[in-house]
Amino acid sequence: MTRFKGKGIYGAVAIGNAAVFKRQDEQVRRTHVDDIEAELARYEEAKKLAATQLSEIYEKALKEVGEAQAQIFEVHRMMLEDAGYNASVANMIRTQSVNAEYAVSVTADNFANRFAAMGDAYMQARAADVKDISGRLLSCLSGHGEKSAQSPDAADKRISAQEKIQRQAQVVVCADDLAPSETVSLDKESVLAFVTAYGSSNSHTAILARNRNIPAVVGVGEDFLKAVEDGKRIIVDSYTGEIVIDPDEETETAMRKKQEEDLHKKLLLQELKGKENVTLDGTKVNICANISSVNDVEAVLANDAGGIGLFRSEFLYLESPDYPTEEQQFTAYRKVLESMMGKKVIIRTLDIGADKQIDYFNLDKEENPALGLRAIRICLTRPEIFKTQLRALYRASAFGNLGIMFPMITSVSEVEKILAVCEEVKAELKESVVPYDEKTDVVIMIETPAAALISDRLAPLVNFFSVGTNDLTQYTLAIDRQNVKLEPFCDTHHEAILRLIEMSAKNAHAHGAWIGICGELAADTTLMKTFLRMGIDELSVSAPFVLPLRDAVRKLDLSK
Ligand code: PEP
Ligand code: MG
Repeated sequence: MTRFKGKGIYGAVAIGNAAVFKRQDEQVRRTHVDDIEAELARYEEAKKLAATQLSEIYEKALKEVGEAQAQIFEVHRMMLEDAGYNASVANMIRTQSVNAEYAVSVTADNFANRFAAMGDAYMQARAADVKDISGRLLSCLSGHGEKSAQSPDAADKRISAQEKIQRQAQVVVCADDLAPSETVSLDKESVLAFVTAYGSSNSHTAILARNRNIPAVVGVGEDFLKAVEDGKRIIVDSYTGEIVIDPDEETETAMRKKQEEDLHKKLLLQELKGKENVTLDGTKVNICANISSVNDVEAVLANDAGGIGLFRSEFLYLESPDYPTEEQQFTAYRKVLESMMGKKVIIRTLDIGADKQIDYFNLDKEENPALGLRAIRICLTRPEIFKTQLRALYRASAFGNLGIMFPMITSVSEVEKILAVCEEVKAELKESVVPYDEKTDVVIMIETPAAALISDRLAPLVNFFSVGTNDLTQYTLAIDRQNVKLEPFCDTHHEAILRLIEMSAKNAHAHGAWIGICGELAADTTLMKTFLRMGIDELSVSAPFVLPLRDAVRKLDLSK
């Protein structure tokens, strides 16, 4: 039995078997080769090895999970023989005298991009297959694969987490780190929890875990990766951040008991559904939920949230192989608005950059991406992308109660520019006789100290302020929210942050605007009294926190 400790994300206890996620996309170097025939032969050998592995895995999967799910490995084996792919690799080796790894890597990117650009969803999905096969070829070329040709067990270790998840009923995903796009693609039905060696509790990966109701512990440390293996029994307590690998019987029994008690408590909270969010002394507060995808609306409704306080629309882009079209976006936004049946839905415009990178945006590498071209700065420099999203949003406004929110505001002139683009979009829709709601709220995020300090100038321009405490903390305390090593320095209750929120609340109310908090701090019940005394009108949290927050509000007396 081995114990580890990290930062617990969304509270729950999970007990199951580990599925280790190891990245295959190592950086490939271009090197010159003199003996071209030897390099071609090396490629052929790697192909043979990869084919053997895939046959072995296919046979094993056939026995364990049946034909339907095993089929993918057979398809991959056949794709290894694709004439176009092989000709491209051979051609590069011959004409450019490059190493096979480099030829495979470039060919993989070209093929995957070509598939990803196709309109057909089936063909788009093939992009992932090409990457998968190429990853296997690279591994065989590097020699990592040699033993595994004879050993199905070793071969099995290289298959991706997704494959493992498909093959086992329910697993605890264990990884060095997960990108937000990987977290969003985790299948909730099969993933009991995830544990990462790196990562911080304020990262988008952690936020997604909360939004998606997945118990998680992050920042467990490197030694965890050495100790965990596929199939090992593992307990994840995301209340305390404790991990136990190979638990003894006594520990597992105790944790099962904790799990049952936890479920019972969550069940009791269900009784609060339909009740008002009002403190003992009569102060009302709106409790909303944050979402990252259309699918999250189900949890919002199940937890009886008062609306959606933040829809992180960038995940529509992150999940897509190319810029989502106006029509695709309109369909998604309309669906969310209609599902919420007249309750307020605040959709935030694209907030990429920093930790949320998307290949097809072709953004330059930056020294300090959190201080770089991100969020509204991208939208204002790429108006075609911004206008497409705004058109989709305004069109959707005719189907519900929409607020459009703009991230990373630092100045009055930015807001003026944004409002001008909104007016342009609305005028175009009017001219084409496309319906939209003229009363759509304009919301800005207060997530930079600059925005809070000039909130008296910003408030008259908008309907609503939404405080993004995740970034406000990062920028006020000069603490990279991605860096787990800085967590000991990260005082989320720091007086500077609270003063900036209070200042923004005063200025919002002085100009008839509302103010809410949609960052992770909104779920911190120890600050609830402070926030409500400042006059915060709305708290927007991950859906599983809505009922616990309602419970806390109803027990609070602001007069004491
Ligand atoms: C925030 O910064 O608090 C916020 C809500 O936005 P995000 O976490 O997506 O950056
Ligand atoms: Mg933010």
